[in-house]
Amino acid sequence: MSPRSLRLVGLGLVASTLAGMAPEDGAAPYGSIAGLTLASPEHGVDTPSTPPPAGAIVLFDGKDLDAWVGRDGKPPGFTLVDGKAAQVKGGDIRTKETFNVPVRLHVEFRTPYMPEAKGQGRGNSGVYLQGRYEVQVLDSYGLKSQDNDCGGIYKVAVPLVNACKAPTVWQAYDIDFTPPRFEAKTKVEPARISVRQNGQVIHKDVKIELDNTVSGMGGDPSTPGPIMLQDHGNPVQYRNIWILKTP
Ligand code: MG
Repeated sequence: MSPRSLRLVGLGLVASTLAGMAPEDGAAPYGSIAGLTLASPEHGVDTPSTPPPAGAIVLFDGKDLDAWVGRDGKPPGFTLVDGKAAQVKGGDIRTKETFNVPVRLHVEFRTPYMPEAKGQGRGNSGVYLQGRYEVQVLDSYGLKSQDNDCGGIYKVAVPLVNACKAPTVWQAYDIDFTPPRFEAKTKVEPARISVRQNGQVIHKDVKIELDNTVSGMGGDPSTPGPIMLQDHGNPVQYRNIWILKTP
């Protein structure tokens, strides 16, 4: 074997080791997607970050998790990464502030490259509105989307298109959410949701009849709830999260 081919073998080993590496505090265990075939080069390019508009509440800007607590009310376990992102660890986190009005939520996320993992074990996390309605986060790159894939309203609605970028690449959700409406204790309007993923419409005014998707916080659906980010055991990362009340 020539010295050059030895070097290439060595690089390949480094890349596969990084990709399969267990998460360390602050480390991005994302590795290289050089070995992944992309349907379009654009799928390997980060979605540009969208700054919070005037009037938005900044929930996470990379610097601290002051707006968040653990699902159980204890300090949030997510790890800060380079003052820019937070990596899933130590249980679900939820915002201290709760919401019961129509909102636009902007969330940027990326999933790790886990080529040896399958299905729901590959870059799983999720964004819950009111702690009850999950927009799934998963590495579903290149798949025919189901209702439990990335962008799915979990087990409720299939994305209109698969708008996913490749793993390790930054993506964005813009979620317009209207809570269910109650008169006295009777629900007269279900929750509604529209979602854009990386600028593409993946849900258009979908009615969510179910008032608590899998692993949600439940509780009385006529009451306010937080934004919650799921810990599903995979080192998904988040950055630049803001919310705008849109009544
Ligand atoms: Mg999930």
